[in-house]
Amino acid sequence: MKIGVLSIQGAVSEHLKHLELCRVEAVPVKTIENLSEVSGLIIPGGESTTIGKLIEVYGLDGPIKERARNGTLAVFGTCAGMALMARDVADGSTDQPKLGLMNTIVKRNAFGRQKESFETGLDFKGLEHPLVAVFIRAPIILEAGDNVEILASLPEGIVAARQANLLATSFHPELTGDQRLHQLFVDICKAL
Ligand code: GLN
Repeated sequence: MKIGVLSIQGAVSEHLKHLELCRVEAVPVKTIENLSEVSGLIIPGGESTTIGKLIEVYGLDGPIKERARNGTLAVFGTCAGMALMARDVADGSTDQPKLGLMNTIVKRNAFGRQKESFETGLDFKGLEHPLVAVFIRAPIILEAGDNVEILASLPEGIVAARQANLLATSFHPELTGDQRLHQLFVDICKAL
């Protein structure tokens, strides 16, 4: 089984390394052909408008949406990836690109200037011990539909959620030495 990391912008190599530590074949995804070979796709953090526009330029938006919806592709969005997966972006500009995969409404840069980047211990549903979550100009989920399972929250809002084969976190699990969320995603991919 191969799992891909969208290789347009952001912490691509860190995600690839975490997947390899989970003992799966991890490949960068830049083309429709790359995408056709993977069971799961991680959309990393970065700048969601840039990543979203380039997804369209590379023609990846159609196949990602189709396979995510028909259940043949699992998708894990971290930070900007979470915003791209949302049904709606509350404060997005009119040209905010969206994949619209998850039944969520996301607010970008939700933690305000003074706290733009921080790390904190976080309880995560299904994990025995809290994880260290790194937030970098992070979004939050303002609204999650009934079919969305909330996995972690902070006082500011929801910071991790799952909807069937779709997983999203506001924070960057690839920036710590903890593989548990990548392992969760690998397990979702294996169960497709
Ligand atoms: N604020 C960025 C955005 O919404 C996300 C930041 C990140 O991915 N670290 O595009």
